[in-house]
Amino acid sequence: MDFPEVVFGNQCSLQDAISFIEKLMLDDKEMAQRIASLSKGLNETYQDLEPYFAEYTESICKECDHPCCVNRHGFPDFEDLIVLAAMGHHIPSFDFSAQDISPCQFLGKEGCTLKRCYRSYRCTWYFCDEVFDRFEARDRAAYKRFESLMTSLCHKRQEIIRLFEKSWRKNLWE
Ligand code: SF4
Ligand code: SF4
Repeated sequence: MDFPEVVFGNQCSLQDAISFIEKLMLDDKEMAQRIASLSKGLNETYQDLEPYFAEYTESICKECDHPCCVNRHGFPDFEDLIVLAAMGHHIPSFDFSAQDISPCQFLGKEGCTLKRCYRSYRCTWYFCDEVFDRFEARDRAAYKRFESLMTSLCHKRQEIIRLFEKSWRKNLWE
């Protein structure tokens, strides 16, 4: 998809993207309603996933000596902003002076301080191989259920983005 790029750490770029998304959702009420309905399912899948993260991944990440969490990973892209708007979430307040590869400003002693559905999507789908390998080795059946829920999350998210994109393209051409 060729949505506009949201430039890392640039407040104007972020605000422009948010304003554009909010305006389109206000203008295209049919699209906004369909997206709102899909976002309920997305939220449920986030909730269904949470026990797996809590039980199988967070314990490994908490022990990590070199967490992969850096500021640029926590910064939302355009698609993240669409999904946050669809779910009725405001984006977390971001320190725009933060360096891109410094430890993420949302990283606390006990891991990420943001609720998962407020994070950029990469923060949900990305784990290093060690996490996946240890998770699978510990409980293969749970790992399979986790994979299936992650696939469902991805599909629901893509459907929201697809609906938004359809309206966006129509507005570009009108
Ligand atoms: S995903 Fe891997 S590298 Fe990233 S914090 Fe967890 S254990 Fe560390
Ligand atoms: S998971 Fe949280 S702490 Fe890690 S990069 Fe994402 S927002 Fe930052």
